[in-house]
Amino acid sequence: MATTATQSTGTNAQAAHYDYEVIVVGAGVSGIYQIKRLIDLGVRATVLDANDGLGGTWYNNRYPGARFDSESYTYGYSFSQELLDEWHWKERFSPQAETLRYLNFVVDKLNLREHMQFGCKVEKMIFDEQTDTWRLTLGDRRSLTSRVVITALGPLSTPTLPKIDGIDDFKGISFHPQQWPHDLTDLSGKRVAIIGTGATAIQIIPVVAQQAKHLTVFQRRANWAAPLNNGPISEQEMDSIRARYDEIFEACSRSPAAFEHIPDSRSFYDVPPEKRREFYDRLYDEPGFSIWLANFPEIFVDEKANAEISDYIAERIRQRVNDPAIAEKLIPKDHGFGIQRLPLETGYFEAYNRDNVELVDSKATPIERITATGLRTSERDFEFDVIVYATGFDAFTGAHDRVDIRGIGGQKLRDTWATGPITYLGMLVHGMPNLIMLGGPQVAAANFPRGSEVAVDWAMPLLQHLWNNGYTRFDATEASQRRWFENVKSSYEGLLMAKAQSWITGYNSNLKGHEYGHTRYNIFATGGVEYTKHLKAAAENDYQGIEFF
Ligand code: NAP
Repeated sequence: MATTATQSTGTNAQAAHYDYEVIVVGAGVSGIYQIKRLIDLGVRATVLDANDGLGGTWYNNRYPGARFDSESYTYGYSFSQELLDEWHWKERFSPQAETLRYLNFVVDKLNLREHMQFGCKVEKMIFDEQTDTWRLTLGDRRSLTSRVVITALGPLSTPTLPKIDGIDDFKGISFHPQQWPHDLTDLSGKRVAIIGTGATAIQIIPVVAQQAKHLTVFQRRANWAAPLNNGPISEQEMDSIRARYDEIFEACSRSPAAFEHIPDSRSFYDVPPEKRREFYDRLYDEPGFSIWLANFPEIFVDEKANAEISDYIAERIRQRVNDPAIAEKLIPKDHGFGIQRLPLETGYFEAYNRDNVELVDSKATPIERITATGLRTSERDFEFDVIVYATGFDAFTGAHDRVDIRGIGGQKLRDTWATGPITYLGMLVHGMPNLIMLGGPQVAAANFPRGSEVAVDWAMPLLQHLWNNGYTRFDATEASQRRWFENVKSSYEGLLMAKAQSWITGYNSNLKGHEYGHTRYNIFATGGVEYTKHLKAAAENDYQGIEFF
């Protein structure tokens, strides 16, 4: 019988002359919980992060209006009663600065900072088949070895800039919102362009509209959006939330996307049209994703149900936008409501009622080039002080592709994924031994921390199985990976979302191989409840689909 995990992991790394038993890459939401669990077990582990501070997404995305669309109290970690008791979420949907403060509070409370190294960009990871360890090369030229690497890189952490000529010619300030300059907090007096109308732009636009001298939004495809309905959380409300935490997390574990919002149990067709209308009215005024996730399940699979909710939301947009021609431009005509990830907004549509805001239809008059002073469309020249490229991310695979990861036989992960991701349970990749991904492709898309806790809670016993049995290597089999891929693929069947031009299908017009029409199966679309069952079944069956050496 092997020694306990604590004993073996505490000594193996030093005795075998590799630096760490586990290196976690990324100090965001997943990486923080992962290092907590490893340290609790006495494992020799560290976190490396390219940024100068922890928080991942919440460290980077400092654009005006940045906040999550998850109810704050469903976004916090559930594993520590102490954290739940002490933290007061001030708003129903916490803004970026407050969320970053929360993550720093967690790390300090749990004494995790000493296990984190910042300013360390991992550039290369090579698996050494002789020693069953990974060698990581960092941007600062250091080289570290580790038995296991756990990547916690974030599914939407690799920004993509548009492929537009002249992008380097602009003499003003330009950036992707993920890299919004930390000291650029006010755009008063500035002429601002925002390119793109995804969830990010939809958060930025109403805030910048109030500051900028003039804001021009370049919209290629309109995006559905619905009100966030945010509000403060008083001390008293927070006390009642604390008393309900078990119930709240239990509800999240029962919902497909790990939110409080549970799909309506009635069938769309069993509810008369006027009652459906009353139901939509109520959902539209409720906070968060209610209008999307607590709606009739048919809106995701049935064209008629989807058309009805789309017409309803279009009507609400028309009520909120003064100029009917602008309202029509803001109503998507190429896809139904909710088949792409729904952005939530605060005053987005009303922003277009302001005199200083202009909407340019980039489909009708495409952007031809960026110039020294602004940009040129097929129709005219514009002058700007600031251009914001809110043009999306290389979702799910981008963060891994940026690192030169080579497994068995020198196989590069980015080659394995060239035409789309392939994984086992979204956590392992055949031929990439001793590598665990948190929040990688082909997991269920969910309220992120809820999914992170599920993933870490699955990874820890897997590692203990490795250590307790004296193994030095684990690897998903090719057959199990193929089965999971087929499972993921079939999870898209029948869903209107399968037709989406979004990260769900791997669409990104700025990336080769991500064109619309070539589906990259980025998520397990059946949802979190079924996904968790798959993880559990694999673990209970002696890590079925994984070989140990
Ligand atoms: P996105 O949804 O991919 O939107 C990118 C936008 O840029 C689209 O409107 C796209 O138009 C446009 N675009 C891209 N390249 C262009 C070009 N060359 N010319 C003109 N327009 C171009 O990206 P995102 O807004 O950053 O959101 C990505 C994801 O991040 C969201 O789906 C969400 O999951 C997450 N997010 C979450 C929150 C939150 O929790 N509150 C906030 C922000 C983001 P086309 O559609 O025509 O390509």
